[in-house]
This record gives sequence, C-alpha cells and structure tokens, in this order.
Amino acid sequence: MAKRVYLFNEGHKDDQDLLGGKGANLCEMTNLGLPVPFGFIITTDTCREFFANGNKLPNRLEQEYRVALDLVEQKMGSHFGDPDNPLLLSVRSGAPVSMPGMMDTVLNLGLNDDIVEGLARKTGNPRFAYDCYRRFIQMFANVVLGVDGAQFEQAIDDYKKENNKSLDIEMEAEDWQRVIDHFKQLVDLPQDPFRQLLLAVEAVFQSWHTPRANVYREMNNIPESLGTAVNIQSMVYGNFGDDSGSGVAFTRNPSNGEKLFFGEFLFNAAGEDVVSGIRTPLPIDALKDQMPDVYQQLFDTQLLLENHYRDMQDIEFTIQEGRFYILQTRSGKRTGRASVKIAVEMVKEGLITDKEALLRVSPEHVEAFLHPMVDPQGKKDIIASGLPASPGGATGAVVFSADEAVQEAAKGDKVILVRRETTPEDIHGMKVAEGILTELGGMTSHAAVVARGMGVCAITGCNKLTIDTAAGTATTASGQIIKRGDIITLDGLAGEVMLGDIPKIAASSSDDFQTLLNWADKYRKLSVRANAETPEDAAKALELGAEGIGLCRTEHMFFAAERIDVMRGMILSETREERESYLVQLEKFQHDDFLELFRIMDGKPITIRLLDPPLHEFLPHTEDDIAALSAHINKPLELIKNAIRDLAEVNPMLGLRGCRLSIVHPEITEMQVRAIISAALAAKEQGCHPLPEIMIPLVVNVREIRMISEIIDRGIQSVMKEKSLSIRYKIGTMMETPRACLGADRLANDVEFMSFGTNDLTQMTYGFSRDDAAKFIPAYLTNKIIEMDPFVSLDQRAIGKLMKMAIKDSKRKKKGIKYGICGEHGGDPRSIKYCHKLGLDYVSCSPYRIPIARIAAAQANVE
Ligand code: PEP
Ligand code: MG
Repeated sequence: MAKRVYLFNEGHKDDQDLLGGKGANLCEMTNLGLPVPFGFIITTDTCREFFANGNKLPNRLEQEYRVALDLVEQKMGSHFGDPDNPLLLSVRSGAPVSMPGMMDTVLNLGLNDDIVEGLARKTGNPRFAYDCYRRFIQMFANVVLGVDGAQFEQAIDDYKKENNKSLDIEMEAEDWQRVIDHFKQLVDLPQDPFRQLLLAVEAVFQSWHTPRANVYREMNNIPESLGTAVNIQSMVYGNFGDDSGSGVAFTRNPSNGEKLFFGEFLFNAAGEDVVSGIRTPLPIDALKDQMPDVYQQLFDTQLLLENHYRDMQDIEFTIQEGRFYILQTRSGKRTGRASVKIAVEMVKEGLITDKEALLRVSPEHVEAFLHPMVDPQGKKDIIASGLPASPGGATGAVVFSADEAVQEAAKGDKVILVRRETTPEDIHGMKVAEGILTELGGMTSHAAVVARGMGVCAITGCNKLTIDTAAGTATTASGQIIKRGDIITLDGLAGEVMLGDIPKIAASSSDDFQTLLNWADKYRKLSVRANAETPEDAAKALELGAEGIGLCRTEHMFFAAERIDVMRGMILSETREERESYLVQLEKFQHDDFLELFRIMDGKPITIRLLDPPLHEFLPHTEDDIAALSAHINKPLELIKNAIRDLAEVNPMLGLRGCRLSIVHPEITEMQVRAIISAALAAKEQGCHPLPEIMIPLVVNVREIRMISEIIDRGIQSVMKEKSLSIRYKIGTMMETPRACLGADRLANDVEFMSFGTNDLTQMTYGFSRDDAAKFIPAYLTNKIIEMDPFVSLDQRAIGKLMKMAIKDSKRKKKGIKYGICGEHGGDPRSIKYCHKLGLDYVSCSPYRIPIARIAAAQANVE
C-alpha cells in the first residue's frame, strides 16, 4: 500500500505532485534546517482516493496520520487534545500548482471548552486563548460545517455595539468568552479534537471542488485530476502579543522586479490578517527598526531560499514572542515586467541559464510590455491614491460587485471593479474587469496578487476612499462622490485614480525585454510572421520582430470609405467594360498598398491571399446605405436590392468564397495578380527586395490550384513582359478544409507552401460556425464536453492530426514545401508549441502577439 502520510522531514521540493507545492516546500525548508513548525502532509493521491471512494477517507488513513501526529507531538513537546499542554494544528490545502486562497483552511484546530482553559493557563494569556478559540469556531463552522460566516461577524458586531467597543484589540478575554457563548448557540462544535481533525481533512479535500477553485482551475488550465494535499502543521502565533507578528515578503519586488527585499508586516496579528487586507500592513522596515535580530534572521532566510530555489520567492513568516518561524515559501507571482527583469538579472547573476530564463517568463506576461500606460501628460486631477499593486492603465465604468462586473462586461462595457477588499469569491468579476480598485489591503493582498497574476491593472489600499457598496458610491477624502457607472481611469503604476477617460500611451519595451527576446531568437526554430495588411500593422509587426507577413487578407484593403463603393460598383457592374473600369481603379489601390508593404517588409516574404470572403459581405445592408450607394454609383435602387438578394447565401461560410471566387470571377484574380506583381516590380526598381507569395485560399482539390495557378502565372508573365523585369515569386495554398488535408499528397506537386488556416479548418472539422460558436461553447466548456475552446487553442487530437497527415503525405511527394499556420492559433502559446512539435516552418499571428510567439517558440525548443 502506498504511503499516504509524509512527515516534513520525509519529502523534498521536487515532490510537488504528491505533496502539493506548499507541502513539498515545507519539507525542503525543514531539511535546510530552517525554523519550520513541524507537521505532516496527506498526499494528493489520497485526495484522488477520497473522490474515487465517493468522498470517503480511506479506512486506514486516520491510523496512519495518528502515528505521524505522535512524532509531531514529540518534536513540539506538547500534545494534541491535552488540556494541560495542548498542541494546536493548522489544516491547510496545497495543490501541486499554486491556487492562492482558492481552497479552505482551518486554524487553531484542537481546541474545545476544556482545552481553551488549559491554553489560557499554560500561556498565562487568556485573552489570546479565547481569541484563538473564537477564531477556530468561526473557521471550523464555516469551512467544515458549512455555517454562513456572516452570522458570526454579526454576533461580534452586535456584542461590540452593546458594549461600546469598536476594535478587536479592545476585546478582553471575558468579551471573547461572551462572544463564544453566543457562537455556541449558532453551531454544535465537535468537542473531540480527533473528530475535528478528521472532519477538517475531509473538508479540505472537498474544497478542491468549491466554485471559486473550479473557476480558478478553468482560468489557469489546471487539470482537475491533480487534487490537493492536506498540510497539518503545529500552530505558532503572531497574535500572541506585541512581541509577535506575521508577515509576507518577496525576495525581490514583485511589481517591478527590482532586486530589493520587499515585504509587509503586522505586529500582534495572525497571517490571515496580513493577506486579507483587514488592516493595512507596515513595510518590512518597521520590523528592522523594532526587532533587528529577527529582521536579520528573516533577511538571511530569504536570501538562502532565493539562492536555493534559484527563483524569486514569496514567503510567509510568523514571530511568536520574539522567535522567528517560516511558514511557507513558493515561487512568487509577479508582474510581466518583473518576471522579465528578474529572469534576465538572474542570468547576469549566474543563478540561472538563458534557457532557464526563457522558461521563467510566461508568454502571457510579455503582454505587460505591450499594455497601454496612462499618459502622464494627460493626467488630470487625481481624486484618490493607493498602492500601485499591478501596473497598466485602465479606464471603465465603476461597478461595485463581481456579479455587476460580469453583467456589464457581457454588454460589451469596460468596467473597473471597486471593492473594499477582494476575496476569492470575486474572481469571476476580476477576470472581466479592466482594472481593480480596493479600499483596503496591501501589496500582498488578494486583490494585488490575483491582479498581478492576471496582468490586470490594480490599485489597493486606497484608504481615503469610503466605499458604500449598497448605495453604489465611493467617496473620496475631499468628499467627491463616484457613483456606479461613472467613468474612471486607474494608473496602476503610480497608484492613482482619476475621473474620466485619460489618454494612454502604447506600451514600451525595455532592455531586459529585448535581451530576453534575443535569447528567444537564439533558441527558436519556428520563424514568426505577422497577419497584417495595413502599413501601420506591418511596421508594428516589424518593430516587434516579424520575419515577414504570413497572411495579408486582401479583402481588408477594400473596406476604407473611399474604396468600398468602387468594390461595390465592380460587383454590381452590368457590362464587361463597366466591370473593367472598376477593376482598374481597384488595381491601383491594391498596387499602391502592396508597394508600401513591399517597402516596409523589404527582403522579407509577404504571403498575399487572393480575395476570400463571399461578395455579398461587401454590399450595404441598411436602406440608407443602399440609397447612398445608388446615388454614388448611379444605379437604380432595385438593381442593388436584386443583387443583394441574388448574392445572399444560406450558408455563406460554405458558399461562394475562397478560391471558388477565382473560379467564378477570374477577372478579380487577374486584377489582384497584376497589382501584386507590378507593385513588386516597382519595389524592385526602387531598390527593395520584394518576396511575394501568392496564396490560394479554401482549396479542396488540386484542379482548383491548377486552374488558378494558370491565371496567376499568365498574369505574372504578362506584367513582367510589359515591364521587361522579372521577379521571384511563390504560389501556395491555404489548408483550410479537411479535404485539402486529407488529399495533401495530391496538392503537393502544385504548391511551394502550405499555410494552415486553422480558423476555417476548425470550423469545417467541427461543423461549428465561427460566428455563432460563442453561443454554445461556454456550455460545452462548463459541461466539460470540450476542455478548451478549439478556436482559441488548437485541437491537437483532430486538427493536429489533419495537419500532421497533410505534412507527412505532402512531404512524401515533394521536398522543400514550406509549412506555416496563419489562423488565430498562430498567436496562442500552447498551439505554437504544438506547431514546433509538428515541424512547421513558421507561425503567423497578429502583430501584438509576435513577442509572445517568439518566446513560446523558443520555449518549445528548450523545454
Ligand atoms: C483561417 O481560416 O484560419 C484564416 C486565417 O483565414 P480567415 O480567418 O481569414 O478565414
Ligand atoms: Mg479562412
């Protein structure tokens, strides 16, 4: 039978899967000889057993952990359940992947009516003993017995009111005793400590499935099968008196990455008081001033831990009666900017290699370099300020609850979530908010940690703001009232709140970021191109490291106001001459656009896709627009309406689009080819090195490619002859239909490249309409019918299989074909890693995803 219980001196930091992150690190710190209150861990395997058994603990588990408990008692010199010398325990969750605050914890376990008196006697501190007992009852009742915590808070508030008290520190031992008497009317607390322990272990396992834990796992792609471990540890007390306290610290600044020990601390407080944001903590220097020896011990410990783990650590510590204890260490969550700075500096310090640095940065974190910041020039009156918990600039309408945030965001509105403090129950609201503002809490509060993790702008500890959630108002120190729905801007870097929509500046790079990207380029095999068609997008893409354009959607070049009616005129032409006159105008537009792109992308390939969408997409929809078009191109209303009717399709996504347009309207293709090649020749004349690649979309059959290639070749030859110049070009196809993938061997000889259009390929393989899937995909995800939205992350099983088959079959027929991907998946880190595995030559994505793609591609190669 597998071992289910591990003492803290029996595990190691690499045992995270079995012992959870928290437990594995407690073991590691114990082995390092650090002052960790002793304890033991029940494994994640046991959690899985528990669920497999229909939520029942395995038979022999209690016997097993009682043996461990005996050893803990020996080490601590006190006894669980002994009123004369009581040992109290914390019972905490701990998953293999950090899920801060998402599951449940019970503290001070092992108290009952007798033992609390013993604790009071032994410590000589009855106030402390009864405070612990009331905290325990509250927590146990809430977590284990499912009693609403608000009732207990209410009982405390009522008592304080009746007795003219307002703060907890004004409560004496007798006061807490009276409150406890009241609590006991609300809940039937098991008096047997061993029963308490058993129930608490069960409750922690169960908390793997709380709604907030489920949401968090979904958001972070954490598999449900992991399960949680249970950490059972001797209690130490930061709330023992004025020579005690609790704190949270980071070995480097988690907001900007500076190599500076950074932390927050509260005297005479339990750990949960620091993180919950109930009191605004002191900076760690307060400890240096008042307890220099303890501070030194803390400082040495954090240094040792960072060097040992070779990563920035987030630590929790407690001081009881002047003695230092370390309770937790884990890799610290950090902002995107901080993660890059820390990774690059650690390489320079010789702590990690450049390959490791690349793996330390989450591709999503790179977005921090790409986020807008509030323009200092545009800053108006600052109406409130707080702690700069998570950088970025955000503007939105004020909402006061997570539910409201979700409601308003669903309407397409940008919202700023304003709360006194956040708790894990707010996670769904935080997820959709542009920014988060809290009255309470420090840099390590829930709001700060979660927002940083999500890369959402946040300001915490905005103490001068008085929030009245029920009334839907927040009042500033000067009496200004912000109401629900008012537009405010947050500057998460400065911690400042402003009224109205303040302009932002585009995100800027940093030397560290460039260094990291250079390392990424050194290690990646996949080349990265951009999906771009405007000069601005192409220039941005180039700046961000694009090695070419992987998809230029030519239809996007016709939508500008002065062009659309020319396109419409062409579609509605009644004679060949009329159509040709419009085509000449369109050719001119396209020529100029392509020339500009060739100049910007000098020497880099540009894959230009022939017109793809159904023609009716270009026609007007409203009566007003139809009338305006009629006047502009001088055609009767009726003719336009008839054309709209004629071009309408039952299933436009499966209709006259893609290469089918070239088959039915070869003159459009001829025009596009002339524009592409004449622009390339003009670019060449100007000294550039254009590399045009013409891409045929939505192919199902090699005869389509042959017929269209003939049109293309003919067009190219005639333009080259006219200009007496020649140019190299490629013709390839987009792999967007299952049939194209299944018959790739037959396409191989007729193309030089294949670019997987995985948007359409996903649509056609699933039979899920790209435009309507958002209506049912959430239900599919909630019901776990699918694990991920296949339009976001490539479905490796189906789409991946088609791609793999297409590559293998076509390679067999012809060597030297280049393979790329240009669907949205080309910018998704998980999909990019898969494309690396498939051996594609390049990924193509929107310009702002390029740095992310470069890093993900490198990660795929060094992982
Ligand atoms: C695709 O289908 O994946 C693609 C890139 O083309 P579009 O999104 O323009 O249909
Ligand atoms: Mg497509």
